[in-house]
Amino acid sequence: MIAIDGPAGSGKSTLARRLALELDLPYLNTGLMYRAVTLEAIRRGVDPDDGAALAEIARGLRFELDRSTRPPELRIEGAPPSPELRSPEVEALVSRVSRHPEVRGILRGEQRRLGHAGGVVEGRDIGTVVFPDATLRVLLTAHPEERAARRARELGEAPLEAVERSIEARDREDERNVPALEPDLELDSTALSPDRVLELVLEALRERIGEA
Ligand code: C5P
Repeated sequence: MIAIDGPAGSGKSTLARRLALELDLPYLNTGLMYRAVTLEAIRRGVDPDDGAALAEIARGLRFELDRSTRPPELRIEGAPPSPELRSPEVEALVSRVSRHPEVRGILRGEQRRLGHAGGVVEGRDIGTVVFPDATLRVLLTAHPEERAARRARELGEAPLEAVERSIEARDREDERNVPALEPDLELDSTALSPDRVLELVLEALRERIGEA
């Protein structure tokens, strides 16, 4: 099990996916699970402050790993994650939904179930809360301006200021949900290429396994 934690735009999805391919392990993006609960809450008109109703939604969603893809990846309600999960509407509410301990408890259980046989798991609280015994716990960071620029590019050149504001707001709210991680490896990806980040993590993993 490899845990990759970090804020939006730190490069954790790119790293986690490539690492999973390299190591032939399943790849689990836990942010998509929180996004799925948020999208369903929007569709049903559920109040993002109603923890019990949100927990009900989380309980009802079906999360699985699709073993037919390379790497095996998350399926939600039997389908690959929809692009709507990355919409600005979901993004604006996801931190509020993720704040509820009832929701976190349910998703944590699902994450442990999906990851129990090993994998590369990314999120905010994976190395601290979900899989504290992971073989390698990485914290990936990057300068806030660089994170916003990356995110704006991903969203098809969205206005940088709006992306900056949205990332800052999420950072602030998410920090409250997540205990500080004492990671095995902390990397600032601001000035590093995705190839270099992957290389450094693989090196750290080899060292870890060598030690074990
Ligand atoms: O990783 P991503 O940016 O897609 O995550 C979306 C949101 O889901 C985060 O801003 C956070 O509110 C929530 N999240 C979380 N714990 C995780 C993964 C995501 O609270 N392990």
